[in-house]
Amino acid sequence: MPDKRAVFLDRDGTINDDVGYFCSLDRFRFIPGAVEALRSLQKEFTLFIVTNQSGVARKIFSEDELITFNRQVEDLLRACGIEITRTYYCPHLRQDRCQCCKPSPFFLREAAKQYDIDLRRSFMIGDHPHDIETAAAAGAGSVYLLTGHGPKHRSQLRVPPDLVAANISEAAEWIISLPVRTQPR
Ligand SMILES: [Mg+2]
Ligand SMILES: [Zn+2]
Repeated sequence: MPDKRAVFLDRDGTINDDVGYFCSLDRFRFIPGAVEALRSLQKEFTLFIVTNQSGVARKIFSEDELITFNRQVEDLLRACGIEITRTYYCPHLRQDRCQCCKPSPFFLREAAKQYDIDLRRSFMIGDHPHDIETAAAAGAGSVYLLTGHGPKHRSQLRVPPDLVAANISEAAEWIISLPVRTQPR
């Protein structure tokens, strides 16, 4: 039986401001409270980033540049005391019909296999309906954020999230307040 719990984090609009397609640290700004929220979540949860980065397929940046940037973000977070176990990214376009693009639960299932994660006791946090659909498809809980693109896409939520939160701080507080689930959903 897998025994670890995880929080899968969307990146842009969830941890940092969504400023469109970008791939450099000088445009990276934390959403206020994000660092503290991640610090508290990691006391109980293994943290992953799951991000769609179609800027690669659009040739706005290369996959190598994205890999470098992902590492820089992980290093920046580590310097704040936060360990991201892995950053999963989809470099494709939705119309490529790849297996990894959110709302596919592919990366959550990969993480479950590779890192012994119990998805039914895990959560995904994001600012797009796809993040909520990803969680639902994986059997995980979900929090929809009203940061980033959250307000704009809220009416497109087809799968109800477990919580709609103003920001990642509120999401983290709520997740931590829940009793640890011992029964499958
Ligand atoms: Mg986002
Ligand atoms: Zn993909």
